[in-house]
Amino acid sequence: MYDLIIIGAGPAGISAAFEAKQAGLDYVVIEKGLIGNTIYNYPVGLTVFSTVNELEFGEGDLKPAREKPTREELLSYYVRFVLENELDVRTEETVLEVRREENHPADEASAPLLRKEGSFCVVTDKGDYAARNVLFAIGAMDHPRRLGVPGDDLSKVRDLFRETYPWVKKKALVVGGGNSAGEAALFLAQEGAETTLAIFRDDWENTDPKQGCIKYWVRQPLEEELKQHCLSLFFLGKVVEIRESEVELESESGERVVLENDVVFVLIGSDADLTMLRSLGVETERGKYGDVPVYDPKTHETNVPGIYVAGHFTNKRHIKAAIDAPRKIIPAIAAKLREGQKAAGS
Ligand SMILES: Cc1cc2nc3c(=O)[nH]c(=O)nc-3n(C[C@H](O)[C@H](O)[C@H](O)COP(=O)(O)OP(=O)(O)OC[C@H]3O[C@@H](n4cnc5c(N)ncnc54)[C@H](O)[C@@H]3O)c2cc1C
Repeated sequence: MYDLIIIGAGPAGISAAFEAKQAGLDYVVIEKGLIGNTIYNYPVGLTVFSTVNELEFGEGDLKPAREKPTREELLSYYVRFVLENELDVRTEETVLEVRREENHPADEASAPLLRKEGSFCVVTDKGDYAARNVLFAIGAMDHPRRLGVPGDDLSKVRDLFRETYPWVKKKALVVGGGNSAGEAALFLAQEGAETTLAIFRDDWENTDPKQGCIKYWVRQPLEEELKQHCLSLFFLGKVVEIRESEVELESESGERVVLENDVVFVLIGSDADLTMLRSLGVETERGKYGDVPVYDPKTHETNVPGIYVAGHFTNKRHIKAAIDAPRKIIPAIAAKLREGQKAAGS
């Protein structure tokens, strides 16, 4: 019976593991991919937009060669942090289901308070675990958004941009209005792919740094590529159809054009998989970017006692918030466990 099972080893899950270890909790992290899997999936060589103090666990720990770290420096930092602190992270194991078990035998004799709150069976593709508390730190990358047009299931349609070199001298279309789409278009154009960025005019003209727009340091070189005719911009009405060697687009003024095409990157965001939380009875609501679980902002506990949430799929989407949240969650869990033990002792 673990005090805490943490699902996901991104910044939120790693931070939770560290805090849990410091607090003396019996915990384990279960990660379906690799340590820092979302960062592993960033484009190769990407320089992240956050500053060091927004990404590190301890002040001065992350030492990039330049002002901001690359994907490789950040990933290496998170992996080393797990290894050096001997955090119990089990990779390549997927949590399939979390079930609430009202009267777990391990709690029967000792902890009436815990028994009242229930305990959980965490089912993975490798086995079952029992836990008093479960922290979902699952990120929001599970369901990449699709265009829903004919041809968007062709193998040349990608929802992840990893690197440019397979696409040199090829005709690439990037669809999307955020930073990921801007960066992909820039990398492709700079390294010799014939690139078109299909974007809604509102997204291109949006320069509010608080919104999910293309950041200015991506936008400026993009504008340079446009000037040098290495990149084309298409103000999108809609994507009509993707075919084996072409794409049909409709412009904002309703004009249809057909472009020759080898690869399409659809980078229009992704959504969390809230199925497990909903089956547990966790309430969700509409957030700014999609559905989010409802939780107490002080403890990050949901309406189901013992089920906690942190990170990208909550209302706070960035790494700093993902790292900070467990610093509230773990003391709350530790206090609750102590209270349970006291109640059992008296
Ligand atoms: C290209 C790109 C660049 C970005 N740059 C920045 C930046 O500069 N600054 C910033 O703050 N943010 C940035 N972000 C966003 C940032 O990656 C997220 O805010 C961050 O990863 C959130 O951390 P997290 O721990 O909440 O989720 P994640 O890092 O997504 O971790 C969730 C983990 O849970 C695992 N998981 C999910 N379901 C299961 C399951 N059923 N069983 C087991 N494991 C599971 C996943 O494999 C994943 O490893 C960027 C995102 C992208 C795509």
